Amino acid sequence: MKLYNTLTRKVEEFIPNEKGKVKLYTCGPTVYHYAHIGNIRNYIGHDILDKTLRYLGYEVTRAMNITDVGHLTSDSDSGEDKMEVARKREHKSAMEIAKFYTDAFFVDFEKVNCKVPEIVSPATENIDEYIKIITKLLNDDYAYESGGNIYFDTNKVDNYYCLTKQDDNMVIGAREGVEEDSNKRNQADFVLWFTTSKFENHELLWDSPWGKGYPGWHIECSGISIKYLGEYLDIHGGGVDNIFPHHTNEIAQSESYLGHKWCNYWFHNEHLLDESGKMSKSKGVILTVSVLEEKGYDPLAFRFMCLGSHYRKQLLFTYDNLEQAQNTLNKLRKKINSLKNDGDFDKDKFDSYVFKFKETLENDLNTSNALTVLYNMLKDESLNETTKLKLVGDFDKVLSLNLIKEEESIDSELAKEIMDKINERIEAKKNKNFILADKIRDELASKGIKLIDTKDGTTYEIIKD
Ligand SMILES: [Zn+2]
Repeated sequence: MKLYNTLTRKVEEFIPNEKGKVKLYTCGPTVYHYAHIGNIRNYIGHDILDKTLRYLGYEVTRAMNITDVGHLTSDSDSGEDKMEVARKREHKSAMEIAKFYTDAFFVDFEKVNCKVPEIVSPATENIDEYIKIITKLLNDDYAYESGGNIYFDTNKVDNYYCLTKQDDNMVIGAREGVEEDSNKRNQADFVLWFTTSKFENHELLWDSPWGKGYPGWHIECSGISIKYLGEYLDIHGGGVDNIFPHHTNEIAQSESYLGHKWCNYWFHNEHLLDESGKMSKSKGVILTVSVLEEKGYDPLAFRFMCLGSHYRKQLLFTYDNLEQAQNTLNKLRKKINSLKNDGDFDKDKFDSYVFKFKETLENDLNTSNALTVLYNMLKDESLNETTKLKLVGDFDKVLSLNLIKEEESIDSELAKEIMDKINERIEAKKNKNFILADKIRDELASKGIKLIDTKDGTTYEIIKD
């Protein structure tokens, strides 16, 4: 399989540390607010990566964190803790906020058919692990105490900016240097452990060898990844905005702690844009998957829209684009739903289409080409419908668009609704309420459902438009 690796800035052959097994870590949500659809695009990208690896036969173990402490309003340790901001906004405890938005996150996550990782761990449950790592970094002189906080000394590592292009460094320095911290030895240094009085009303505090405090944001992903996936990670995923400083800092502290290379492949998703630019939570109403659903869209139409574009390309969200995705997905499902089991399963043809489908995904997850393989397969007249249905089911293990199931569940819902009406009509007739009985018949007729009364009871027929 070929994957673009941010570390080398090349599309490379993916070779895991252990044959056939993949250790995958992806950064999870900061649960101080709802996850907007731009965040969700990122998780859809991770889900496709996860499912593709499994589809190709790898045994995948994936971990994801939930940031419920330590993420400041600026990624470079300045501003307020995001959870504290939410606590003030909503007059709830930090743990209540975290629980509420974690639950809301997973509702939307599952609505777009993202598979929940094997390991999901909140930052607040791994404090001992961070203390262990920070203690060693201090002992080995990679970290220092200043003004009460513990900082990582970025000057102690070679090639600190390994994930970013060299010429970006100045730009990054200018952009991220929002708040001058005189305790830092170098501008790029970052906090591993906070104890300073700046956040004296911080709700979540833990005892540490350096005083009561709480961890910085970056240490949590290193800590959780090393604790659950071990010292050698195959792929680390996130959004492009995580490259600097978050992932850059993760590499610096993890490799200094471990004493060897930590992760071989860095996977990053591009942004979803709206017409005003990059989506953000600070711009008024937060557009979530649930909001799209309330407006009448199928959350999987959003997933379908994301799959139509490459994960490394920016994608523009507009309602027109979503509408178009919804219509195309409806047509696709309708077409698939019309397929019947009409003959013997053709294993050779099945295998040849599976091969083509795999080829597109193995090519740096080219999901739009994978969809083209699906369309071509459906059009192929040399394939019988039995084989087509099996292929749709197989492809949907990765695409996860409910291509078969969704239609079936609509059908069974409709069938139940019709049966309820028929029973209601039988009851009405029994009570000699013929006006109501006729009303029910006409109501169903207006929906294209024709009732047929026979001596054995009532059946129905759906009149196709
Ligand atoms: Zn992270």
